[in-house]
Amino acid sequence: MTQLLEITGLKKQFGGLTAVNDVSFSVGEGEIAALLGPNGSGKTTVLNMISGALSPTAGTIALAGERISHLAPHRIAHKGVSRTFQLVKILPSLTVAENVVAALAFRRDPLWGSRATERAHELLAEVGLAGRGGEHADDLTYIDQKRMELARALAAEPRLLLLDEWLSGLNPTELRVGIDLIVSLRDRGMTILLVEHIMEAVRALCSRAVVMNVGNKIAEGPTAEVLADPVVISAYLGE
Ligand code: ADP
Repeated sequence: MTQLLEITGLKKQFGGLTAVNDVSFSVGEGEIAALLGPNGSGKTTVLNMISGALSPTAGTIALAGERISHLAPHRIAHKGVSRTFQLVKILPSLTVAENVVAALAFRRDPLWGSRATERAHELLAEVGLAGRGGEHADDLTYIDQKRMELARALAAEPRLLLLDEWLSGLNPTELRVGIDLIVSLRDRGMTILLVEHIMEAVRALCSRAVVMNVGNKIAEGPTAEVLADPVVISAYLGE
């Protein structure tokens, strides 16, 4: 399998605290992989370094063989990396379509005017919000806000999508829908790295998992094997 994302010797220090310590792993093209670990293990810090919000203290991040870890966040986005956030970020006074149009402005090749609106409606249809573009964003239910956030992330036409607990807070029925939606993105060729606490979703979605604990990588491999690893189980129990 061709590796899309290659992380080598990644490290991040905040003053005296080593939040991420010499972490290396790869995500193959077209794969859905999980980045797991108890709270405070460094997962969000890794996502923030991949998207460029934080710069690494040491190590490299490469996308399709090209080093991206020295680039500014907008340049990394233009290379094809997009992410969702743990807390849904919406522009509440705008319509659903306008929220997506705002995200389209950050594309490598921004779309404007009627083409942008048309593309926003296409993206909304892809995430299950066909015909809902005219509604106010703050009138959406929680899962529909999550769908809209995904449409915003897809506006950049990413090769690599980073999902930070995108499934959290969904009820069991919504969770099923959310899982199917992520699978549909993978089936369209997207590569996905997700941070997730819902193990049922991790088992259903991810072929491989990487586990961190207190900044260190403690396990990596096929999801079922990793989740059965005593080292991983004791890290979670120690939380
Ligand atoms: P996780 O996502 O696995 O819960 P984080 O990456 O959020 O873990 O945090 C890893 C460690 O880094 C924690 O000890 C956290 O307090 C610390 N940390 C995260 N961001 C910062 C920051 N901006 N400044 C200082 N410490 C931080």
